[in-house]
Amino acid sequence: MLVLKFGGTSVGKPDRMKKIARLVTETPGRKIVVLSALSGTTNALVRIGEHLIASAIPAAEKEIDTLESHYQAFTNELYATDTFRAIGQEIVSRFFIFIRLLAAGQFDDKSYRELLAQGELISTELFYQYLQEQKMNSRLLPALHFMTIDENEEPELEKIAARLKPLLESLRNVDTIITQGYICRNYRNEIDNLKRGGSDYTASLIGSAIRAEEIQIWTDIDGMHNNDPRIVKKTYPISELTFDEASELAYFGAKILHPSTIVPAHKYNVPVRLKNTMDEKAPGTIISNKGKEGTIKAVAAKDGITAIKIKSSRMLMAYGFLRRVFEVFEQYKTPIDMISTSEVAVSLTIDSTAHLTAIEAELKKFGSIEVDTNQTIICLVGHKIGGQQGILENVFRALANIPVRMVSVGGSANNISVLIDTSFKEKALTALNAGLFGLT
Ligand code: ADP
Ligand code: ASP
Ligand code: MG
Repeated sequence: MLVLKFGGTSVGKPDRMKKIARLVTETPGRKIVVLSALSGTTNALVRIGEHLIASAIPAAEKEIDTLESHYQAFTNELYATDTFRAIGQEIVSRFFIFIRLLAAGQFDDKSYRELLAQGELISTELFYQYLQEQKMNSRLLPALHFMTIDENEEPELEKIAARLKPLLESLRNVDTIITQGYICRNYRNEIDNLKRGGSDYTASLIGSAIRAEEIQIWTDIDGMHNNDPRIVKKTYPISELTFDEASELAYFGAKILHPSTIVPAHKYNVPVRLKNTMDEKAPGTIISNKGKEGTIKAVAAKDGITAIKIKSSRMLMAYGFLRRVFEVFEQYKTPIDMISTSEVAVSLTIDSTAHLTAIEAELKKFGSIEVDTNQTIICLVGHKIGGQQGILENVFRALANIPVRMVSVGGSANNISVLIDTSFKEKALTALNAGLFGLT
């Protein structure tokens, strides 16, 4: 079986939704189709939720009205017949009655998460009805029936696989099974989500759970590019990446993939193919366990990083110091991305500042602390680039005019990371594009 995931822009216009219906029919064999919300919807739901939390009711109502009109227009254009236009309109009004009920109630974190789930719930229903109108053999399989996360917000892959087995067995005569990306249930059985951009992760969790032949992520660009196309003008798609390379790029900011997408696919060796909905003939990128060694294939940038330096004379010649420092981060469930040490100081970076004040207070017990916000990690990725002669020289020549705050080499053989102030990000990515890939 194949798993095909279509992102927000791929379903964001009625014509695009019709196009993906065609793409799905032309793909041979049985498949599971994972859909995101229509582009802009989750952002609108986030804004509505924020207004409601701030009790800004008129602002929330205005956004809800605008969103509903958008869906009414979308539905009128999507279906060819009056019968299905009426079904579509009925779906839209049902959803918006529910959204208004949520808005009118005691709006707490639980209602907020329910609100965020409406985008994928509505896009899949509208798409399913379109396939019905086209007389395609399809069914809707609700993600909330099988996709769960545990207390630590980790997907429960084995349970997901165990639930999917009988469900798919009961749908064995169905060619196209449609489900929602992004949404899930948490350990309290409440509606939750896999964080922004999480539909990619849904596709990869399903693909890994059922050991699919391939997981295809269809989006608005022709594969993983060598640099961030939102920031640098000239970039090109990479035809092949290893799981490790793609994993590092996704984690360190290549928005085309949710940061965790590659983890389950790698574990179960299910290839991931990135394809362009707007240009289906373009080869895209295939991510598997095969790959060429020794060259930097791509760079990515992750913003919102905080650097912490702990200076302590107690560190000099002492063992056990780093363990005590790490325990503080463990206690506050805050992952560390980069680390570098000297005899009397250790610098590290985090991307979650949820517990920063408490972490700082604990670390002050060890020595003096310096905290810098608005930092960016630039991550350079290539299979086995670590230890290759001349690679670091090229990187630092390219970054000659950028003040580099931290460097990490040798942590993995596939990654070199440098930390810079975010104000230098564009300059650094452009310089690396010229210095490493000859693109000016
Ligand atoms: P979808 O809605 O389909 O999930 P996203 O907007 O989440 O699409 O991801 C696709 C976008 O990722 C592209 O339009 C592109 O601007 C951005 N992007 C960032 N870095 C990269 C990269 N290295 N390669 C390709 N796309 C990237
Ligand atoms: N709709 C969700 C978001 O915008 C999930 C996704 O598109 O992957 O974050
Ligand atoms: Mg995305």
